[in-house]
Order: sequence, then C-alpha cells, then structure tokens
Amino acid sequence: MASSNPRYANFTARANLRKRVKAMGLPCAICGKPIDYDLDWYVDPRDGKRKRHPLSYELDEIVPISRGGSPTDISNVQPVHRACNQMKGDGTTKRYKRFMQSRHAKREHSREW
Ligand SMILES: [Zn+2]
Repeated sequence: MASSNPRYANFTARANLRKRVKAMGLPCAICGKPIDYDLDWYVDPRDGKRKRHPLSYELDEIVPISRGGSPTDISNVQPVHRACNQMKGDGTTKRYKRFMQSRHAKREHSREW
C-alpha cells in the first residue's frame, strides 16, 4: 500500500501542518494583511473554470526546500496569500504592493473576480 511511500507520508504531514497553521489564524507573512482561510477554489466567471483563489491560503517555506529547509517543520513555514507567494520571487516589491492594495481595495466594493 501507499503508506510506506515517503511522498505520501510527506503529503499527510503537510496537510496536518496546513491545519495547524490555519488554526493559528495568522495574517499573511508577506503583505501583513489578514488571510481568509476559507477561500480556496473559485469559479472564474470569464471562462467558467475552477481556479485557486489568488488570496487563498498557502504555506510558504521560510528556508526554501532547495536550500535544505523542511517543508513539514512548523518552525520553517508561514501562512501567505497565494498571490503574494507567487509574486515574492520577482523582486518587484513596490509593484507587487500596489497590486495587492488594488486587489484588496477592489474586494471591498465588489465580490466579482
Ligand atoms: Zn499577502
């Protein structure tokens, strides 16, 4: 059975970690704004496809796995928005912050994405 598969074991540990971090209810470690932990999938009205919500919750490794960080150690992970996590690597922090501000501002006026 798959129980001896290390990838499966890692997946389970990761799922448990996600739950533990979610239970702490922390804000995004990148932009500092609250995370709506209930956001997950949404249907894009433009193409009708199910997508991950850009402000949904993701776990980010503080020390990247590629540099030896553990993906399953709670001291090496932090909660972030999916969009923040994706834009983090760009090094364009100012542009990114403006992007997030406009995103958050829009959200107050409309529930459309
Ligand atoms: Zn964020």
